[in-house]
Amino acid sequence: KCGANYTPLSPISFLPRAAAVYSQRTSIIYNSIRFTWKQTYDRCLRLASSLRSLNITKNDVVSVLAPNIPAMYEMHFGVPMAGAVLNTINTRLDAGNVATILKHSEAKILFVDYQYVPLARQALSHLTDDGTPVPLAVVIDDIESPTGVRMGELEYEQLIMSGEEYQYNGVEDEWDAIALNYTSGTTSAPKGVVYSHRGAYLSTMSLLLQWGVGNEPVYLWSLPMFHCNGWTFTWGMAARGGTNVCIRNTAPAEMYRAIADHKVTYMCCAPVVFNIMLEAKNEDRRPITSRIEVLTGGAPPPAALLEKIEDMGFHITHAYGMTEATGPALVCEWMAEWDLRPAEERAELKARQGISVLSLQEVDVKDAKTMSSVPRDGRSLGEVVLRGSNVMKGYLKNSEDTAAAFKDGWFLTGDVGVIHPDGYLEIKDRSKDVIISGGENISSVELETVLYRHPMVREAAVVAMPHPRWGETPCAFVSLVKGYVGVTEEDIVSHCRSNMARFMVPKKVVFMDELPKTSTGKILKFKLREMAKGFQVI
Ligand code: ADP
Repeated sequence: KCGANYTPLSPISFLPRAAAVYSQRTSIIYNSIRFTWKQTYDRCLRLASSLRSLNITKNDVVSVLAPNIPAMYEMHFGVPMAGAVLNTINTRLDAGNVATILKHSEAKILFVDYQYVPLARQALSHLTDDGTPVPLAVVIDDIESPTGVRMGELEYEQLIMSGEEYQYNGVEDEWDAIALNYTSGTTSAPKGVVYSHRGAYLSTMSLLLQWGVGNEPVYLWSLPMFHCNGWTFTWGMAARGGTNVCIRNTAPAEMYRAIADHKVTYMCCAPVVFNIMLEAKNEDRRPITSRIEVLTGGAPPPAALLEKIEDMGFHITHAYGMTEATGPALVCEWMAEWDLRPAEERAELKARQGISVLSLQEVDVKDAKTMSSVPRDGRSLGEVVLRGSNVMKGYLKNSEDTAAAFKDGWFLTGDVGVIHPDGYLEIKDRSKDVIISGGENISSVELETVLYRHPMVREAAVVAMPHPRWGETPCAFVSLVKGYVGVTEEDIVSHCRSNMARFMVPKKVVFMDELPKTSTGKILKFKLREMAKGFQVI
């Protein structure tokens, strides 16, 4: 079907191009370290060559436990250039989960940043205990100020130095695997999702376009690269010849400093990061002088929080997606005419999850039983389903969960939403989180939106608690803006009473210093549900 000039799609192709056209432009900044695109290409080729000399070949899995440092960025190119599959592991997982991933993926090499050596050692000892082959460990010492921490014989910078000239001829087949990402396990054990070169290429291009990433972006790595390969912007920055500002952690002082020093223009983050930025101590803050575009997603961003963060000078775009859809699959594209709406309404429009990115051909909201589309009236609830190039083929070595994830060719997201008459989708809940009270469906997200409008509420989550008459009733868990203690349950309940239908008002409000969260910053509703099970309605 393909002509002789057919070239398989791969985001790796962005790198040689960047080295040729943006050769002397800064590719990476990490504290005092600077690389150009020419150097980055050279280092990635050397990495690929060293991996080959370690007998890494096509489809071998190379895992990594590292923060957003230059080596982590380079691996997004160097590992696939050796034909291998990059498996970035969430550094916040415990040793048991890391071991599960290493075992399931049959990783051949594990790159470990020096900071995560204790975690990696523990994970590898789990593998030794049950007789699983252990991957070869390569430590990544700090490139700026080496610590001397070692694990095994090999060190990353030495591997780069010992790499030889390497000819990269592109990918053989665009359906070859480029990355393996495990779901964060909010609702079940982590499952492996394989990204193809083709899928990664199309998603990267779509996101760059729909987020409107302009020339010479200065991109702050505030989103972990281990989240769906940094929502594809690892590859995306090479496509735009951007500058990757790498930071080891996302403490507010480090983020504000990086933004000010390098005049950051783009960054991605989960909504929880906004609270970190808003609550920064005065001495940690710096004035924001550049226009910063922020792509946020991963959890529903409360409209009230979007309003506050925009007031600080961040320009927010909201995206929705999941590991199975190569990260963001919907973007809330802004319509110019919305600029004229009042601030509160603008924030509500922005809190909607939006429309499909170009590489996702179709998104719909369907009745999960009949698979018929619900009316596009902004009220009719159904399951959000996806179809197109973003969507995975299936879970690695897991045909049972794969079969359950699809129906009639559609990927079932497990999220419940509505489609508005203008075609924009809004998530109302995860199907497991809907509260059914006396036969009425109550969206926990809707209640949380109201709670976040209370000026003293910092975090809010609503779950079902048992009710002798209604079956279930809403129970709210709330943490307050730091330093406030005077707010009572009655205050919160009366705020809800004046902003929602009576049957939706939480029957109980529990105050916590901090709500429990997953390793990716999502509120752990199942833990709250467990607690709420024991509560009595008076
Ligand atoms: P897990 O399913 O283990 O949490 P993911 O990290 O892939 O793994 O999370 C995907 C889920 O996160 C989505 O199904 C959805 O419930 C939630 N999510 C992601 N982005 C948004 C968003 N912008 N608004 C609401 N929910 C979101």
